[in-house]
Amino acid sequence: MNDILINKTTSYFKETFGSEPTKIVLSPGRINIIGEHIDYNDGYVLPAAIDKIICFAFAKNNTNTSKVIALDLNDSFEIDVTAEVKLDDNDWTNYIRGVINQLKINGFQLEGVNCVFSSNIPVGSGLSSSAALECGFLFGMNDLFNLNIKPIDIALLGQKAEHWVGIKCGIMDQFSSVMGLEDKVIKIDCRTLEYTYHDANFSDYSLILFDSNVKHSLMTSAYNERRQQCEEGIAIVKANFPEIKSFRDCTEQTIIDLKDKMSHDVFRRSLFVVKEINRVIQACEALDNGKIELLGELMFATHDGLSKDYEVSCEELDLLVDLAKEETAVIGSRLMGGGFGGCTINLVKKGQEQQIKDKFSKLYTEAFGIELKIYDVKVSNGTSLYTK
Ligand code: ADP
Ligand code: MG
Repeated sequence: MNDILINKTTSYFKETFGSEPTKIVLSPGRINIIGEHIDYNDGYVLPAAIDKIICFAFAKNNTNTSKVIALDLNDSFEIDVTAEVKLDDNDWTNYIRGVINQLKINGFQLEGVNCVFSSNIPVGSGLSSSAALECGFLFGMNDLFNLNIKPIDIALLGQKAEHWVGIKCGIMDQFSSVMGLEDKVIKIDCRTLEYTYHDANFSDYSLILFDSNVKHSLMTSAYNERRQQCEEGIAIVKANFPEIKSFRDCTEQTIIDLKDKMSHDVFRRSLFVVKEINRVIQACEALDNGKIELLGELMFATHDGLSKDYEVSCEELDLLVDLAKEETAVIGSRLMGGGFGGCTINLVKKGQEQQIKDKFSKLYTEAFGIELKIYDVKVSNGTSLYTK
């Protein structure tokens, strides 16, 4: 599948610019096995890069102007890389502008490039096409101009670029896109950025994403509100237990003991965060010990918490998880990403994938009149140069 994308992108580059690209970069989207709404709470997450990518074809053009073509949108823009970088009305260009801006404010000298990119990462479904875009472009600049930026710093610069665009994301998306490894999930400590790889051995189960195909507008306001509530929660904890720095240092009992000092919502958000951090630790142990059914149970528990205590689900996602609970062939399911739409991530028994896909599609469309999109995903390498 990715071969077709690579051929399409490089052929278009050649037709447009009249020469072969000198570098081809592949930058993946990501999934998160467990650990939701945790990256901004100093906890742990368990993401992995996947086999859905943005392919970039690059060459220097020996001018000060970069020309970037978004093949999927049939759109392009030019930017003078020596001039001040400003936000634009055309959204997708801002991710590239943001990257160029970050490189410049960090003192890197840039020259113009020609670039064509094209993708098979679903956009806006929670697979982090935006991180793949930032990190792939950064990776290309790093390689073309020998900037010697370490992979982890590519992730951090990508995150800053996204902040510049206006989305105050945590580090998980860019980190996974850059640092992913085939058949490994990454446990990231979002406080220290220390990370460990764990075998992504899902034994007799396949990873399938069900895309609800909805995006409720509540998302942004709720995200900001949850961040605010968590800050309130941890402030109350710290005021009572000065030795505690963040939720990961709390037990569930710590939060329960402070229930009277918190609003009902702040209490439920805080308790969810403490439980979810513990679930990530248990999920790693489950993967390390080949206890895949336990991993599935943890995923279901995460969804319950996200739906009832953190309140970031919606009826479409809840239905998909409820359907999963009824099937013995699906041992784990939860909403993935910020919530209010996007995908659920599911562990589905090998050999029964098609039957489950057909059944879920039918029932989902019957319930909501919306088409269910389905993605098979494999855990794959992070951003890299492609060599034939
Ligand atoms: P997600 O990262 O979950 O896919 P976001 O809303 O964070 O969703 O980022 C999606 C945005 O990234 C798009 O609206 C677009 O601006 C940019 N983008 C992603 N993929 C492409 C692409 N193939 N071509 C052009 N822009 C893209
Ligand atoms: Mg994104």
